[in-house]
Amino acid sequence: MVTEAAAPPANALIARNPATGKELWWTEPTPPREVAGCVDRAREAQAKWGAVPLRDRLALLEHWYRTLAGKADRWAELLTLEIGKPRTEALGEVFSTLDQVRWVIRNAPRVLADERLPRGRQRWQLVPPGWLCWRPVGVIGIIGTWNYPLYLNAPALAAALAAGNAVVWKPSELAPWNGFQLQESLEGSVALPGLAQAVHGGPEVGAALIASRVDKGQFTGGIPAGRRVLADLAARGIPAIAELSGFDPAIVLPDAPVASTARAIAWSAFVGAGQTCVTIKRVYVVGEAAPWAEALAAQARALRLGDPSAASDIDVGPLINPAARDRFDGLVQAAIAAGARVLAGGSPSEGHGSYYPPTVLLADPDNPRPEAALAGCFGPVVLVRGVPDEEAAIAAANAGEFGLAASVWGRDRRRARAVAGRIEAGMVAVNDAVTPLSHAAAPFGGVKASGYGRVHGVLGLREYAQPQVVHVRGSGGIRPQLYPYSGRGARLIGRAIRLFHRG
Ligand code: NAD
Repeated sequence: MVTEAAAPPANALIARNPATGKELWWTEPTPPREVAGCVDRAREAQAKWGAVPLRDRLALLEHWYRTLAGKADRWAELLTLEIGKPRTEALGEVFSTLDQVRWVIRNAPRVLADERLPRGRQRWQLVPPGWLCWRPVGVIGIIGTWNYPLYLNAPALAAALAAGNAVVWKPSELAPWNGFQLQESLEGSVALPGLAQAVHGGPEVGAALIASRVDKGQFTGGIPAGRRVLADLAARGIPAIAELSGFDPAIVLPDAPVASTARAIAWSAFVGAGQTCVTIKRVYVVGEAAPWAEALAAQARALRLGDPSAASDIDVGPLINPAARDRFDGLVQAAIAAGARVLAGGSPSEGHGSYYPPTVLLADPDNPRPEAALAGCFGPVVLVRGVPDEEAAIAAANAGEFGLAASVWGRDRRRARAVAGRIEAGMVAVNDAVTPLSHAAAPFGGVKASGYGRVHGVLGLREYAQPQVVHVRGSGGIRPQLYPYSGRGARLIGRAIRLFHRG
């Protein structure tokens, strides 16, 4: 139920402008006991939806895509109001979302088509012709986060529905307004009751969704909550996609041009006020780090911090709420206590709003303790440390449990690429960061503690489908009759081993 005029009840989910704290909208959360019923209804709807031909499913999603595109400005406005994104970033999120949804619609016929298995040597075993087919999984339970409420959720919904599934999803309690609007717009195009439902609320609603009869889970968020969710699913043998936190390294090689690299790293560290899972958080400079840290600090100091809903010339908006700002500040202070020097920012801004100035820290070459203190932080900070050589840079990048994205910067692309190939991360870029990851065909996801499974691209779309192998032999056709066993059958197999595997 949604009420906009009346005063919110005590348990209301309230959307606030993080720049001002002003209440924007509210809704009542879904009672956790009702979530299992939503999943059961979704299962009934899936039985019908899965039988709808793919091209008809895609036609409905195409209508949704066009509706989303038609309201691009309104979506950007919502993102600015509820998340505090500068308008350029908000429009960028809308653009990338549309790109991803469009990719799903255009490519699903190819990606989900039956694929004839090559006959190869199996023909000698008289194996009948086979196909790899992609079937719906059933009901996908999606738990979302708030930092990209459109980009993280709309493509996942499109992919899950395209593949013939039903979805019950929980938008983040920190972005309920965007979640509600997204659900409403989807229902306007794909109107099969129960097929795609949003349940609203915090961890208790998420836990109820995970405890229900979903066939696959998708969790985007932090590692502690993610691991609880994944453990619950695993205990019941339910598969999952896990998109968890990163702590992304950048390696700067000695031949990297200073000005352009520092500019690019600054943007890649502070976009989304550093609340982007793939922002650069650590920079390992091969050689002398101080000039690099100074160049980044100069960039950071020049950025204009403020309320993006009030002015267009703002580069960095607020953090999502005061609690997030205080948590983030605690980690920055711990890094400083561990020996990092502050070159820019380093403490919360005074006054209203959860502002934190873009922060640049410099650590001594032989002191990795500040990194350990900052690990997993979610805000505008970049820590710079000098390392003696490439090997040390790679070791530093790979130290710790994270493995989401990484970048390598240098003029010699071959050399940079060789370094990139040795970094333990799901996504690595040379002389770039953050933006390449919105490539619609590029599977997105991490390794190590940053998660498993992929979204986007072929691998991402196939996460929402289960492979089924179908072999078809003509009725009454020739097949190897092994019974009753005799020396002849064994001799034939022995000959085949010699022919195919010992030759
Ligand atoms: P969070 O883990 O606190 O919450 C994420 C979601 O999980 C929310 O919807 C929340 O209500 C729900 N939740 C929390 N506890 C739960 C439980 N026990 N059972 C079920 N659901 C539960 O994280 P957050 O603060 O929303 O997100 C910030 C984190 O997300 C950052 O660490 C960031 O790095 C990460 N992130 C990762 C990606 C990615 O694609 N890898 C993308 C965006 C953000």
